[in-house]
Amino acid sequence: MIAPSPSRPEPLRVLILGGTGEARDLATVLAGRPEFTPSLSLAGRTRNPLDLPGAVRSGGFGGAEGLAAHLREARIDALIDATHPFAAIISANAARAADMAGVPLLALARPAWEETPGDRWTPASDITEAVARLGVTPRRVLVALGRNEVRALEAAPQHHYLVRSIDPVEPPLAVPQARYITARGPFPLEDERALLIANRIDAVLSKNSGGPATYGKIAAARELGIEVVMVARPPRPPVETVGSVAEVIAWLERLAHQRPPLRRGV
Ligand code: NAP
Repeated sequence: MIAPSPSRPEPLRVLILGGTGEARDLATVLAGRPEFTPSLSLAGRTRNPLDLPGAVRSGGFGGAEGLAAHLREARIDALIDATHPFAAIISANAARAADMAGVPLLALARPAWEETPGDRWTPASDITEAVARLGVTPRRVLVALGRNEVRALEAAPQHHYLVRSIDPVEPPLAVPQARYITARGPFPLEDERALLIANRIDAVLSKNSGGPATYGKIAAARELGIEVVMVARPPRPPVETVGSVAEVIAWLERLAHQRPPLRRGV
């Protein structure tokens, strides 16, 4: 084994909490930089995750305490919460665990979509409320929710649902009229427009995920004058937050420069 050069600091160990395209992008950039050793953590929900760079771990840590223990055991120097804006539990756990283990934490959260002229948005504070907002009259609804969230649709069986998810919804919903598409974004505007027209959709049920990859359905709904029932994001812990991968890298570079140059005897 080659001993570390005395003039060269050890790489900064960075744990990225992922499950998003941004986390993957960040891991890819860091894996190509000698001053960082990234590892990417996934919840393990998606059956066939895309190929990922560098070290990847999958599955929960066992709450904030489990994550704090992992931070200590793996001697993590920096924690990046790049999870999805709707993944509220892991973000809260990250804040508590970073505190417990004394590890610097930065959150990467893409900006939420903003309503623009021509949009017909109906706000909802959670998915249960969003389903109620579809109303009593039967609608033809494009559902863009996670497969673990779509059970809420069973409370309104009068609608016709077109449910799109990465993995199949199993078992199927207990509603008389539901069809299923398995697909992974990005979903371009042209395809979304064609999908809405072909299926005579008159309502879109969406979370305010933000980002360009899944914005096509929102833009297409605007063009076609279709209502979007938009679920607001859950509250996030009060953690320093940036909106882009470039800002995370700048933060990590500052951290790398601030820390002592050598970690000897390890
Ligand atoms: P969640 O409700 O916030 O988290 C539930 C539990 O899953 C956590 O307590 C944790 O288990 C585990 N977990 C979540 N993210 C993890 C990660 N990156 N690495 C290791 N364990 C993780 O999360 P969720 O909403 O179910 O989302 C699960 C994953 O899918 C997240 O990584 C998220 O980025 C991604 N995702 C979510 C959505 C969404 O709309 N919610 C959309 C796209 C992608 P322990 O307590 O045992 O540690």
